[in-house]
Amino acid sequence: MRVLAVGAHPDDIETFCAGTLVKCAKRGDEVFMAYLCKGDKGHFKIPPKKLSQIRKKEAENAAKIIGAKVLGGYFPDLELYANQEARHKVVELIRLAQPDMIITHFPDDYMADHNTTSCLVVDASFTATVPYYKSNQRATKSIPPVFFMDTGAGINFQPTEYVDITEEMRIKERMLDCHQSQYKWLKEHNHIDLVEFMKKLASLRGVQCGVKYAEGFRQYAVWGRIKTTRLLP
Ligand SMILES: [Zn+2]
Repeated sequence: MRVLAVGAHPDDIETFCAGTLVKCAKRGDEVFMAYLCKGDKGHFKIPPKKLSQIRKKEAENAAKIIGAKVLGGYFPDLELYANQEARHKVVELIRLAQPDMIITHFPDDYMADHNTTSCLVVDASFTATVPYYKSNQRATKSIPPVFFMDTGAGINFQPTEYVDITEEMRIKERMLDCHQSQYKWLKEHNHIDLVEFMKKLASLRGVQCGVKYAEGFRQYAVWGRIKTTRLLP
């Protein structure tokens, strides 16, 4: 299976669904990790251009741990809008990955880049199937199922599906740990320890489904997207 995870920023995927991606990689899936924004503004001192290069490298290092391919990095942080240009970029991204399943943000998360990413991915994944919608990549074969990953601190998000990531937690931590620039930024700007933040949420989702650590998801349940088999690992 081909699995595409699309976050707004480098480190979102690692925070909210990397345990699941580790499992996908283990079962032999081809995994793509994409982020739409460059992650270029999350720092007090390092200027955007330099920061986006650092964060690209961090994302590549994290993906390398599970042999995933990195895509994206198109728009400056906080300058992502649900417009024609952005949707076209996401269509290209989806056509490049040709996914059987997509994981992205929940549309009601804590900040605009996350919510816009969710909207773009849902809309573009439909558009990507239409052959007469022209782009440089070939149209995808079918409308892929979409799963929304958890929100910041799990607020306003009730999972409908859980993935046990107890055994994958160590690798997930290593992946998140690659994002050192973001780790420091969140500590100074948001006063959170990113790894601890991630582990607390995984513990909460774990206690809800009877395991030590879990990730929670909600399927985007609309006509054309629902399958009879379980797709999450
Ligand atoms: Zn983010």
